[in-house]
Amino acid sequence: MVPLLARVPKPPPPSFLDRVLESSWELAVRYALLAGVAWLFCYVIFRRRWFHRKIIAKFPQSKEVRREIFYSAISVVVFSVVGVATYYAAKAGWTRMYFGKDAYKTVWFWCSIPCAAVIHDTWFYWTHRLMHHPKLFRVFHRTHHLSHNPTPWAAYAFDPPEAVIQACMFPVVVLTIPMHPYAFALFMIWQILFNIAGHTGYEFNPRWLMRTPLKWVLNTPTNHIMHHETLRGNYGLYFNFWDRLMGTNHAQYEARYHEVTTRRRSMQDPVAVPPVGCNRNLPDQGA
Ligand SMILES: [Zn+2]
Ligand SMILES: [Zn+2]
Repeated sequence: MVPLLARVPKPPPPSFLDRVLESSWELAVRYALLAGVAWLFCYVIFRRRWFHRKIIAKFPQSKEVRREIFYSAISVVVFSVVGVATYYAAKAGWTRMYFGKDAYKTVWFWCSIPCAAVIHDTWFYWTHRLMHHPKLFRVFHRTHHLSHNPTPWAAYAFDPPEAVIQACMFPVVVLTIPMHPYAFALFMIWQILFNIAGHTGYEFNPRWLMRTPLKWVLNTPTNHIMHHETLRGNYGLYFNFWDRLMGTNHAQYEARYHEVTTRRRSMQDPVAVPPVGCNRNLPDQGA
């Protein structure tokens, strides 16, 4: 007699579309949770208490936030399509991604995460500069720059063609270095946290940062918010070495950082504070 279980057909493996839907859902929940927490802290609970660290001393309109969320939702789907395609390629052995248990016990597992960050930062810097070319800007990068005073929801607010370029960092990283999927997942957590922090509109770093060599390494929210204000300068993401090397930091970057981080805590009213270095007529330093 054939056992009952033997007659139950095995479910078919999930299709490409199933995986994209699943991945989109996971990515959307993670993004909504992290950007939502950042929003809740910076724009609701500590809106007054942290106001002295708000880089642009005013808050954006609701319609701007709705636009950022709308385009972020589209980007999540684009990221998932490219991510799942990259996973299929990795499974087929076309990338340097490796699988296996206990991978986290090796030194390389942990070293691969900062290496991925450097590769992504390099990819981001050069594609970002390219997308600022007048002939490419409208198609690729315009939507991200509709946010002149961005919120955490601007982190993924891209035109779909830009979302494809941003998502291509998945294959670029795993084609360049050997990486375990779990290490990649940790790298993605760093990526989203840093990206959201950079778009909160608040400077969280200590004022002494600019007095240390760390200023050569770390990029800051102030630098990126100045990029949104002026549409130029600071094309890097996590790090500042490409901008320093190529001379593309804003001329007033460090002065603005000093101004933001030395404000009095009592500054609580959302009135415009004369910003240092947000002059839109700065000479173009970028591509
Ligand atoms: Zn830009
Ligand atoms: Zn941005």
